Amino acid sequence: MTKFSDLNLNSKVLKAIEEAGYETPTPIQAGAIPPALEGRDVLGIAQTGTGKTASFTLPMITMLARGRARARMPRSLVLCPTRELAAQVAENFDTYTKHLKLTKALLIGGVSFKEQDKLIDKGVDVLIATPGRLLDHHERGKLILTDVKIMVVDEADRMLDMGFIPDIERIFGLTPFTRQTLFFSATMAPEIERITNTFLSNPERVEVARQASASETIEQAVVMFKGSRKDREATEKRKVLRMLIDAEGEKCTNAIIFCNRKTDVDIVAKSLSKYGYDAAPIHGDLDQSQRTKTLDKFRSGELRFLCASDVAARGLDVPSVSHVFNFDVPSHAEDYIHRIGRTGRAGREGKTIMICTSRDEKNFEDVERLLQKAIPRLDNPLKTLAPVAKSPAPKPASDAPVEKAPRSRSRSKKPETTPVVDTVQAAAPLEASKAPEQPTEQKTDTRAKSSSRNRSSSSAKQAPKQSDRNNDRGGNKVLGLGDHTPTFIELSFADRYNS
Ligand code: AMP
Repeated sequence: MTKFSDLNLNSKVLKAIEEAGYETPTPIQAGAIPPALEGRDVLGIAQTGTGKTASFTLPMITMLARGRARARMPRSLVLCPTRELAAQVAENFDTYTKHLKLTKALLIGGVSFKEQDKLIDKGVDVLIATPGRLLDHHERGKLILTDVKIMVVDEADRMLDMGFIPDIERIFGLTPFTRQTLFFSATMAPEIERITNTFLSNPERVEVARQASASETIEQAVVMFKGSRKDREATEKRKVLRMLIDAEGEKCTNAIIFCNRKTDVDIVAKSLSKYGYDAAPIHGDLDQSQRTKTLDKFRSGELRFLCASDVAARGLDVPSVSHVFNFDVPSHAEDYIHRIGRTGRAGREGKTIMICTSRDEKNFEDVERLLQKAIPRLDNPLKTLAPVAKSPAPKPASDAPVEKAPRSRSRSKKPETTPVVDTVQAAAPLEASKAPEQPTEQKTDTRAKSSSRNRSSSSAKQAPKQSDRNNDRGGNKVLGLGDHTPTFIELSFADRYNS
């Protein structure tokens, strides 16, 4: 078996590795480090969790240990798709350079240009950046990339998903033709293949087994879930999530809950918090300081549930996550592997449970095909709950939920058969009808609410059968909405959540 000491790494780097507690190189490290140290281009096909970060940082540091940085002309460049990943790479550099004098700068959005400019002006050995921020600095004339000797592209497939490939091509064009390129991607989509053919020169291709085959320590399960009624599905799905969490009990010390959309990341985090679960969201629309704060809390164990989008959580290295919940089936099967890989790390046990609605079944088939095995089914924990109301379904708000009985302000004498309202998602409609029990919501609601009100009055004027509906009080209506869903509701939420 290869040992780190066989790899020709700088002795001070070896010392830092030893102090980090690593005994043997992982396959991607054993495969990528020797050609990288020979100055060759490397195409690493590996995903997060395989030790790929060290597979480029260790040889880079070894090579950079000789020579010195010049003002405004970094000697090496690492491009990462997200700020979090860039920050994590920077931490790796700190760990492995602790016995060397190398300088680095982290260029990511949400951090002031001034601070970053100061570092660049002094001259840095390693520049770690997200593509957009790097180009901003370059366009401001503060950064010259003509002295870059080593360029790393990390998680290229994610860059592709995020639309960064044109930026990457531009950045390649700004660096010297003679640079060495270390290029990492979890998958080789045709567009990635094209980029590597264009910008890499006779690379050493190092491919490590997909994590799918190495994730034996992760117990997987899925709940095939169908709402009792379409309009209740979203609310019931959140209830299923809570029941699944509860069923895990104390074994669930902490968890990442993945949603496909940023809107749902927010909604699920709010809903969980409302029900007393210690949860916070993380996704690309939150400002950097908030993201960092949330992550730090999750890492330190202060926060138990992190609701996340794929992009924000991609590559995050939190060593002891007991559970991963997939609130949605990811639309790319590979993302399932990335997501569940947040638990069961470094030989620990982990558990993952996914909720699959009928809409997700095609994506779910893709996941099982990729895994080449069936994921064990769990019973829908809601199945044993109260049956659906027998009265004909009203035409409710698009997502009118059923989690909690509202204190009705209706004067109807008929018994209340109204579907109850999940105050998280239905905050604006409730406010539009001036419900007194409005839950504490965030500032952003104000805009949605006031616009709801304005548009509400105009849509009321236009509604052709308003009087009929008013006469039909006490029918099976959604609280405060009458028997239709005014477009203003969707609009106000679109304002608030669209990303
Ligand atoms: P990465 O794939 O770079 O995100 O790394 C995943 C995790 O593996 C990180 O927590 C690293 O600190 C850890 N790691 C990297 N290399 C080794 C190694 N040779 N032995 C043990 N753990 C490692």
